[in-house]
Amino acid sequence: MTTAIPSPNLSLAHSKEFILSLEGVNKTFDGFQAISDLNFYVDDGELRVIIGPNGAGKSTMLDIITGRTRPDTGKVEFKRDTDLTRLNEYQINRLGIGRKFQTPSVYIEHTVFENIWLSLEGSRSVWSTLFSRITPAQRERLQAVLTTVGLSDQAEWKAGRLSHGQKQWLEIGMLLAQNPKVLLVDEPAAGMTDEETHKTGELLHSLEGKHSIVVIEHDMTFVRQLARKVTVLHQGHVLCEGSVDEVQNNERVIEVYLGRKKKA
Ligand code: ADP
Ligand code: MG
Repeated sequence: MTTAIPSPNLSLAHSKEFILSLEGVNKTFDGFQAISDLNFYVDDGELRVIIGPNGAGKSTMLDIITGRTRPDTGKVEFKRDTDLTRLNEYQINRLGIGRKFQTPSVYIEHTVFENIWLSLEGSRSVWSTLFSRITPAQRERLQAVLTTVGLSDQAEWKAGRLSHGQKQWLEIGMLLAQNPKVLLVDEPAAGMTDEETHKTGELLHSLEGKHSIVVIEHDMTFVRQLARKVTVLHQGHVLCEGSVDEVQNNERVIEVYLGRKKKA
């Protein structure tokens, strides 16, 4: 009898779950290859950490995913069926891909509560939002976001009063208010105290599973706290992927980091 049951194609079965996939992506700026034959995949609901030396192309990779920068060649897909290279930044954001830049950008003259309210799905202008009535459902949702980011007690504070770390959490809350499927977070712990950094790690862990999260980070203590799959980017290409221990013991990674240190 011939084989009636087709053998499962595991790689194909798995690939269906990728929420983000980049394949063969290249990007050159004035002759400088910032992204080079980049292949990168994120599973639905996973928390992924990206590390790599300065200039490795980490932020450029996020620029490409979010439509801020167009790749020269390669595929960039959301859920394997939406070609992100054909969409603009706004359309990509509306698909549920939210990005947090390194420096917090919150409305310092508005309260913490208002800041999150302003970013709710469907909210448009500052004025129309602040002069409209908040619905009970919206209020409940905003309070849930405030609790998640640990700012319930500061809800009525003007955002300008918040510490640097708290502003970063507020901005993560503003992203969460839009209920994104994918959260891209560029160096959230930069400029934070150790305690704030630790709390940020706990916050990201609490979001895992509900959102797919890509975190770019330098601080290895923080990366260790996150303790998830790490992708090392070098010269716009994936150098290696694995657990924190695996990448820290990888010879090529050691060469890239230590090789640079020796020269410095
Ligand atoms: P990382 O975030 O890993 O430190 P970047 O992605 O910011 O690295 O930068 C990678 C390289 O690409 C750098 O050499 C940077 O100068 C260059 N680059 C990034 N964006 C642009 C741009 N819009 N125009 C020109 N060069 C850029
Ligand atoms: Mg960067």
